[in-house]
Amino acid sequence: MCDTENLERVMELTPTPPGNNFLKKEELTKVEKCYPLELYHCKNCFHVQLGHVVDPKILYQNNYTYVSATSAYFVKHLRDYAKEMVEKFELKPGMLVADIGSNDGTCLLGFKEYEMKVIGVDPATEIAENATAHGVETVADFFSHSLALNLKEKYGVANFITSHNACAHIDKLDDVVRGVSHWLDKDGVFVLEVGYFVDVYSKLLFDTIYHEHLDFHTVGPFKKLFERTGMELISVQRINPQGGSIRVMAQKAGGKHKPDLSIEKLTNLEQELNFDKSITFAAYAQKIQELGKKLRELLHSLKKDGKSIAAYGAPTKATTLLSHFGITADSIDFILEDNPLKQGLFTPLSHIPVIPTEELYLRKPDYVLILAWNFAEPIMEMHKKFAKQGGKFIIPMPVLKII
Ligand SMILES: [Zn+2]
Repeated sequence: MCDTENLERVMELTPTPPGNNFLKKEELTKVEKCYPLELYHCKNCFHVQLGHVVDPKILYQNNYTYVSATSAYFVKHLRDYAKEMVEKFELKPGMLVADIGSNDGTCLLGFKEYEMKVIGVDPATEIAENATAHGVETVADFFSHSLALNLKEKYGVANFITSHNACAHIDKLDDVVRGVSHWLDKDGVFVLEVGYFVDVYSKLLFDTIYHEHLDFHTVGPFKKLFERTGMELISVQRINPQGGSIRVMAQKAGGKHKPDLSIEKLTNLEQELNFDKSITFAAYAQKIQELGKKLRELLHSLKKDGKSIAAYGAPTKATTLLSHFGITADSIDFILEDNPLKQGLFTPLSHIPVIPTEELYLRKPDYVLILAWNFAEPIMEMHKKFAKQGGKFIIPMPVLKII
């Protein structure tokens, strides 16, 4: 992140195709191109990032099956967010609010309700066009410093710039933050939400490591990033999405908001976890290996006993988990998934058929492996009926369990 060459490879997962490249039946025989999934640790600022960057055009512009409105939970999160930010930063009607990686415009609609002017930026052409058609003007492009020059000229200064989980996607973060700094009003605020690597680490969320996530953020490197781009942190808040994220709030250096103690609290935590040492991540990788081995052995022995096994949920991260743990259609009969865009397709690499969740009660598998395992509780709650009918759930992590 700080542009040094001083990087050390600290973790190596099984290479996979882009996690969202689900296949049609006729595509199953073709060779899928796999890309490395390796984590590198910066010896200089202690930032953790992927070593191999897949061309964003390959990742986003063809097969991008994620639309934020498909997740009711996330829609609510974004609506609450707009309200909270309007209150906290005293945003007024008529102000310009921009969203980097605005997806279908869900977040900006929240600000529009407060009569603010909104502008989205998102590279996924079709999604951007749809958002514009639904009242959220969206520029179909990758945000950068040079794009910010045009945006400022065309739309004026931005009072509030926001970004949700898109900054974990952006290869050249320095350039993005320089663009933000250029576009922001002198009293403007930039808020970004990204997965927090402390949560990935302490809750074993290794499956959030996939090609769209180039950077695994912690507060320490952010502090340095903002300092070298003419900005400063105001506050950092830990929040729930993605199993643990941070809401990073920043302004132009010397802006009107007083930085609070949350920043130091989190940088201290990162130090206590030894995030400055590469050995920390080697031990982490070892632990993941062991969990994978246990799960594989369990599935093989169930299969040998003639049991049918389904999996639940086919988010992008399922591709990482299935591939790294070596789980394929040999042990999983099908995956139940709510997203209609994925139903009828097959998972990348592991080639497991994806079918609608309702079929759980028609096909009645003996076991359901919960791939979105950090949501195991609500999923089991939702499907109590399956358990009542004698079905069992397998939760792969953080400790392998059958319930
Ligand atoms: Zn660095």
